[in-house]
Amino acid sequence: VNFGDELVTPEEKTKRVGGVFTSVARNYDVMNDLMSGGMHRLWKDRFVAKVKPRSGESILDMAGGTGDIAFRMAAKGAAVTVSDINPDMLAVGMERAESRGIDGLTWQVENAETLSFGDANFDAYTIAFGIRNVTDIPAALREAHRVLKRGGRFYVLEFSTSEWPGFGELYDRYSEHLIPKIGKVVAKDEDSYRYLVESIRRFPRMEAFRKMIEDAGFKSTSVEPILGGLVAIHGGWKI
Ligand code: SAM
Repeated sequence: VNFGDELVTPEEKTKRVGGVFTSVARNYDVMNDLMSGGMHRLWKDRFVAKVKPRSGESILDMAGGTGDIAFRMAAKGAAVTVSDINPDMLAVGMERAESRGIDGLTWQVENAETLSFGDANFDAYTIAFGIRNVTDIPAALREAHRVLKRGGRFYVLEFSTSEWPGFGELYDRYSEHLIPKIGKVVAKDEDSYRYLVESIRRFPRMEAFRKMIEDAGFKSTSVEPILGGLVAIHGGWKI
């Protein structure tokens, strides 16, 4: 499998992705603001508005990292389980929750490919900027389908490829040159940010990813492009 532009074994990829997020965990939130000019906040707001979390619902926020999506959904009254493969990212999330006085979240280390939850557990499953880092994406999609109740909904927020003429190329140039440099200065870690940029470039196009979601068993799948598809919200239902 690919790790950036290198070929490695699946085990090695999972290990290296772990290393990337352990390395960036402490600077993760400030880097998101810097790299996106604060726009990631709007994308996350839009994402949660689509998920429509309701009071009393049980939602799994997979690859939940430092809690940005979970905090927004908990504010709507949902019971949120935040899961991530990386305990360092969750540790930062737990500290943030405490300092903001948000309680009632459940934090649990999980690999999206092999969840420890039983079948038909959750009303909704969300994964934001997480799925492209997963080694076996089809396995993660099947697991999402398994742990959802019938009538449950599935939402993915992820970078994709902008179909606006010229915009994709412009973003490519920005991301290839500037993001690793920002990573070097702010997070003292150029390589991790080079991997993150490369992983965006390699992620399937919107329609191809929609098809992967369908292949995992989801119905009425959909995609909403943001900035022409630079970022996309995919959805599906377990019927
Ligand atoms: N959802 C958060 C957000 O939007 O700010 C965090 C996104 S962060 C870019 C990606 C997260 O995916 C990291 O915390 C990483 O540890 C997690 N991740 C990578 N591979 C994973 C896997 N196989 N299972 C669960 N989480 C994984």
